Amino acid sequence: MSNIAKKIYLVDTTLRDGEQTAGVVFANDEKVRIAKFLDEIGVHQLEVGIPAMGGDEKEAIKAIVKAGLKASIMAWNRAVINDVQESIDCGVDAVAISISTSDIHIKHKLQKSREWVIESMVQATEYAKKHGLYVSVNAEDASRTDPEFLIEFAKAAKSAGADRLRFCDTVGILDPFKTFDKIKFLKDNVDIDVEMHTHNDFGMATANAIAGIMAGANYVGVTVNGLGERAGNAALEEVVMALKYVEGIDLNIDTRRFREISEYVAMASGRQLPSWKAIVGSNMFAHESGIHADGTIKDPRTYEVFDPSEVGLERQIVIGKHSGTAAIRKKFTEYGIDIDEATARELLPRVRAAAVSLKRSLFDKELVYIYEDYLREKEEGKKAQ
Ligand SMILES: [Zn+2]
Repeated sequence: MSNIAKKIYLVDTTLRDGEQTAGVVFANDEKVRIAKFLDEIGVHQLEVGIPAMGGDEKEAIKAIVKAGLKASIMAWNRAVINDVQESIDCGVDAVAISISTSDIHIKHKLQKSREWVIESMVQATEYAKKHGLYVSVNAEDASRTDPEFLIEFAKAAKSAGADRLRFCDTVGILDPFKTFDKIKFLKDNVDIDVEMHTHNDFGMATANAIAGIMAGANYVGVTVNGLGERAGNAALEEVVMALKYVEGIDLNIDTRRFREISEYVAMASGRQLPSWKAIVGSNMFAHESGIHADGTIKDPRTYEVFDPSEVGLERQIVIGKHSGTAAIRKKFTEYGIDIDEATARELLPRVRAAAVSLKRSLFDKELVYIYEDYLREKEEGKKAQ
């Protein structure tokens, strides 16, 4: 598609929107560790916190700036000059200046007018630009904003010197088709870089982020594990791998450390990583069903789109109720035992019965016990004859 930008930049906001998740707090050391991790794998910009909160938050931001990372370090601000000044005090090179643009927010939350919104945004942006900062103007609730007003807002941001516009689907109300249309309309009318910021309330955060890129957005906001307000944000690992393998766009991120960083953020946020999590879940490369396991043993590409090592995982043949003889034979070679097809066929009903009665797949030891019992019974059978 001709709308796709030549270069796509990845903006991680695990430390800002991710930490905004109800009940999540990172220790300052964890914040620095996560920032370093993200920098090492090649994320272009890190949104690391809200300086206006002061105290520990400000200290953590300063510590991240001091770490001297390659990534651009961005701080989040309301469209308020004092907020921007707090960011300048922290030494960041970039600021996000956020203000609501939808009438529902302007009227019921801010209780102001559209004119006031533009004026506040312009003042804060001009102040930040005067101090040499990179500026993302965030249109909060952009997805529910009158498209004509969003154009007016984006044009005002651009003439105030803003470097990009963050399109926020704050309540996660879009689908990929609507997202594409909205971003295309915006790009057709204003020549400004656009960042996608999507939420997962209807399970479409990653899809919507990608739809925005297809329509011409050239920045994409993500969080590790999709950590974020309510149902979360577009997940870093999903966006990067989907862009690579579904759309053929390689962001040159070191994906081999994805599982490691996902585990770290899961631990630091106290939010367990589900086994079925896309890209980094432990089940991504676990095969149990007879047909799938057989295919994967013959050639992994039959049921895997990319190699597990690309995201720091390992392939796993799981033996359970749905296993077939190929998987059983393969599993026994892992224990250094060669069994023939006939033996595997005789073991199969015993394996299935054990899995059903235990209501789970079998541990390696259990499989070996089943085999030993089988050999013993066979031996006794012979003696009895
Ligand atoms: Zn958000």
